[in-house]
Amino acid sequence: MGKFRNTDSIHAPTLEEKGKVRNQAVTLPILSEKQVSLTIKREDLIHPLISGNKFRKLKYNLIESHRKGFDTVLTFGGAFSNHIAATAYAGKLQGLKTVGIIRGHELAEKWESNPTLRSASDQGMQLEFVSREAYRDKENPSYLKYLQHRFGPCYLLPEGGTNPLAVKGCEEILTPSDADFDVICCPVGTGGTLAGIINASLENQQILGFPALNGGFLSEDIRNFARKENWELVDDYHFGGYAKVTGELVHFINDFKKRTCIPLDPIYTGKMVLGIFELIKKDYFPPKTRILVVHTGGLQGISGMNIHLKKKNLPALDL
Ligand SMILES: *Cc1c(COP(=O)(O)O)cnc(C)c1O
Repeated sequence: MGKFRNTDSIHAPTLEEKGKVRNQAVTLPILSEKQVSLTIKREDLIHPLISGNKFRKLKYNLIESHRKGFDTVLTFGGAFSNHIAATAYAGKLQGLKTVGIIRGHELAEKWESNPTLRSASDQGMQLEFVSREAYRDKENPSYLKYLQHRFGPCYLLPEGGTNPLAVKGCEEILTPSDADFDVICCPVGTGGTLAGIINASLENQQILGFPALNGGFLSEDIRNFARKENWELVDDYHFGGYAKVTGELVHFINDFKKRTCIPLDPIYTGKMVLGIFELIKKDYFPPKTRILVVHTGGLQGISGMNIHLKKKNLPALDL
């Protein structure tokens, strides 16, 4: 230890002051036809690798690991995990060692052709591939103890990075000038980001979460962290489950980018934005509704997804 670490470099306000995170209004015929407005909060512009919400979730955790004197951060994730990519890069910036416990033993032989894992390793993350079975133990205290023994004392971050400090970081996504929006939309994985947005919202704002996975267990997790009741989950746009992608979704994302110049990722934000436009078409939002959409990032995963889409003979996402 004793290494200088610049914790300032992970402060969101620093980036915001540089004007990197902006609300961008979208203009499309369907919006004027239905008399609703749609604005995208470009959290994806924070950084290409420490994208959007993963930056927010890491911020206070890295400060805490520094305060507690750890020089290693250990976390968990799958082969395309934005959290793994973000942790690897943020760790490098902070002079911290990083260890990634990666789901899937079979990846040990082919991880170098996976862009996410490749980039994490290039940032200095030590990758440890475990079977799906072993990975299921990722919250088991005795397994965590074993990992601490194996890799030395480390600051542990759960899969997806969600914990109370992550939620605190996500409470900084909304700013006072967002008070004018009626509806705020956000994609949901573990729900930590949504919880932060709920906590920072006003009672009269309606918060809509769009789960990227198929399963009803999320509400409870969100309730653990959220301090308000002004939210609901829209469960119809996960496209069959986590990281499941269809030709329709690819077409929507490519078309949206052509029309707005805003890139979306296929796992979270693409599904959500497609869902929002479906709801607009169905007159779910009354005229004059002002909608804010949080673009949580995730763009680093596109090249990896394209390799997968090619194998499945599906069209590619435009880069
Ligand atoms: C991880 C992630 C989410 C989900 O965040 P949670 O806090 O786990 O709900 C949403 N969007 C993107 C781009 C992500 O990488």
